[in-house]
Amino acid sequence: MKCKGCSSEPGELDHYCRKCGSDLENPYCSECNSIIKKDDAFCWKCGANLEKDEKK
Ligand SMILES: [Zn+2]
Ligand SMILES: [Zn+2]
Repeated sequence: MKCKGCSSEPGELDHYCRKCGSDLENPYCSECNSIIKKDDAFCWKCGANLEKDEKK
């Protein structure tokens, strides 16, 4: 999973992005900015697909 902030590839055990400091344990939904779980496939709040939010 890439960092939402800077699209670098964090390590498995990283809790925060080494490049931009984003919280990798609790990433944000790109649609509604709710805190989501790292392995959530869909946002619990707005239903956005979190797996493929690369580019539309
Ligand atoms: Zn980052
Ligand atoms: Zn959302």
